[in-house]
Amino acid sequence: MTGDIQRVLIPQARIAQRVKDLADQIMSDHVPPLLEEGQGVTIIPIMTGGMIFCADLIRQIPLAMKIGLMMVSSYPGRSVQSQGSQMLATQVGDIHGRNVVLLDDILDSGGTLKMVVPALRELGAASVKTCVLLRKDRPAARQVHADYVGFDIPDEFVVGYGLDYNDYYRNLPDIVTLKPAVFSEASP
Ligand code: 5GP
Ligand code: MG
Repeated sequence: MTGDIQRVLIPQARIAQRVKDLADQIMSDHVPPLLEEGQGVTIIPIMTGGMIFCADLIRQIPLAMKIGLMMVSSYPGRSVQSQGSQMLATQVGDIHGRNVVLLDDILDSGGTLKMVVPALRELGAASVKTCVLLRKDRPAARQVHADYVGFDIPDEFVVGYGLDYNDYYRNLPDIVTLKPAVFSEASP
């Protein structure tokens, strides 16, 4: 698996530092008096890509919180370009009057956030903030607002730290690009 890596874009240690910064920002935006006493926080990672990001981030946020889940597919199978976002499952609990922080691994075409944020507002959330670990350097990504952004990266297909190609590579600790040979039919 590590033999398929072309370039390490963001190593594990830099991700960890930046995740801590994002957690501090989210924490300071979600404590009283900014939030009224009793208004709860629900963190919603978009699965499957947001899984590892969420696990690391929430352990740096010492706030009472609930976790909800949403499953969205936009790069099914061997896709390396968005095929349009499709909501596969929603398990967010009762978010009426709650302050939602939506987590995604990467902001690319923006289709996912454009679909999911209004859906969460419809469910009666008091506020919806968006947090992405990565944002691609392309006009479409910059046109969609994200409240918290970890890293701006070049417009390349990346994997690792939760991001997949054909459902593999999510367990790589760094954010990396893959060798061109990987994208041929035979592998992985
Ligand atoms: P958007 O809806 O903004 O186009 O893209 C968001 C989703 O597309 C992400 O949650 C992620 O699953 C997928 N995606 C976008 N860019 C990449 C990429 O470079 N690598 C991988 N593995 N997935 C990506
Ligand atoms: Mg994916």
